[in-house]
Formats: sequence, C-alpha cells, structure tokens
Amino acid sequence: MKHEIDSGVGVVAVLQADMDKPLAERFRSYEVRYDGVVTNPDRGQKALLEHFNLLPDSVFHAMTGLKDRADLGEKHGFSEELGRDDDGNLLVWDNKYHCEEDDASWPDPHSCQCDDECPECGASISPETSVWLGPKEPILIAIWERLEDRGWAPTPAVAP
Ligand SMILES: [Zn+2]
Repeated sequence: MKHEIDSGVGVVAVLQADMDKPLAERFRSYEVRYDGVVTNPDRGQKALLEHFNLLPDSVFHAMTGLKDRADLGEKHGFSEELGRDDDGNLLVWDNKYHCEEDDASWPDPHSCQCDDECPECGASISPETSVWLGPKEPILIAIWERLEDRGWAPTPAVAP
C-alpha cells in the first residue's frame, strides 16, 4: 500500500506499507522529491517519521489496521507485562505524582502523561516524572502517539 504525501513546501514523500510485515517493520519511505526532483530514493526511517503524521486518518488506519490504542496492544505484542486501564489501553507511562500542599506522593501508571487527582485534597496534579515503558522502535512510538485511547471522547461543550 502506497501513499504520496505533499508536505506543502515543495517536498513530496512516498510512504509504503508492506502489509505482510509486522507493524514495526511495515513502513518505509522509498522516495522523497523536492520540487519534482527525486532527491532521496529509499531514504529510510528518518524521512518516514518526518512525514508519518501527515498521513490522512483514513490512510493511517488502513495501513496500520488499527482503530485505537487498545487495538494496538491486542494485536501487536506490546509487552505482556504492561497493565491496562478499564478500556483496555496499555499503561505505557509510569507516572509519579507529588502534591506540594499535602506533601503526598503516589505512583499511577497511565496510557498518557496526564494529570491525576491528589488522594488528599483532590487537586489536579501533573506528573513529577514520567517514564516510557512501551516499545523502543520509533515507528511504534509514532503509531502509539497518533492513535487515541479507547474510550476517549471529546469533552462536550458546556452551555453557558
Ligand atoms: Zn493534595
């Protein structure tokens, strides 16, 4: 499966997904053109990562075969040791929190580097440290970042 990406500044990249390969090895960028001239045939993973986020959603989902983060965890062998939240999203961030008010510290693994509620005062606290526990392959990290958590829904607009 191939898709041509126009970055809008004269650079066009052709990304190819070899659908028979496992996800970590599936993608490559095999041609980059600048103003119509092929500058880098088969330029590799750096060019791929530079253009990957410009894939339209429909192409991205077709190339990965994934709907959301829980789907990625089920199908592509993120570590079995990672926990999951109630929606099935893998807990790839080992977050540690600290509330200055109460001098309270607590760990809480999450699928994102999100705020957590202080167990003492209920304040919303950002992680003090956050360690990635997911796979090391840059393309898998990029795919993870591009997907949304299962169960995620935009916050509904509140009427004034
Ligand atoms: Zn607190």
